[in-house]
Amino acid sequence: MVRVCEKITAKGNIQVLPGLELTHVDPVDIALLVSEARKLGAQIVIVHGETLTEPVEPGTNLAAIQSGADILAHPGLITEEEGRLAASQGVFLEITTRRGHSLCNGHVASVARKCSARLVLNNDAHAPGDFVGQQMAANIARGAGLAEEEITVMFNNSQKLIQRARA
Ligand SMILES: [Zn+2]
Repeated sequence: MVRVCEKITAKGNIQVLPGLELTHVDPVDIALLVSEARKLGAQIVIVHGETLTEPVEPGTNLAAIQSGADILAHPGLITEEEGRLAASQGVFLEITTRRGHSLCNGHVASVARKCSARLVLNNDAHAPGDFVGQQMAANIARGAGLAEEEITVMFNNSQKLIQRARA
């Protein structure tokens, strides 16, 4: 994946970072796998959180935050305690445009606001049609109850995350 990303990026049309999403991993193994992924060259490490629609082991959200992953994706009914920990650990919480996973966007936005956790918006794209574009992404964020300035901050967080990944 690292080599493929380098080759695509070298063509000059798009910059592609190697990364992965750990899904259906026993929570006790998450920290080790995050560390292994980074050693293998993953620049963005995501953990599939406790979404309502494709559930994983309880404890996954907490283990993901403690592991120092970059993004806890679709964390479902994340607790405020986990939100505070994500804030202090610098783990981004995801607002998602993906059908099903997006059911808890409003809750995630609310917890993030209360806990000063940082958000990013992801497409969770499995196919080209899943890329919704900037305008729809902003509307989905509005639907989650985010204010305009919070949406701007969230989009800027993605830029910061990319810079951190490349550093
Ligand atoms: Zn996922």
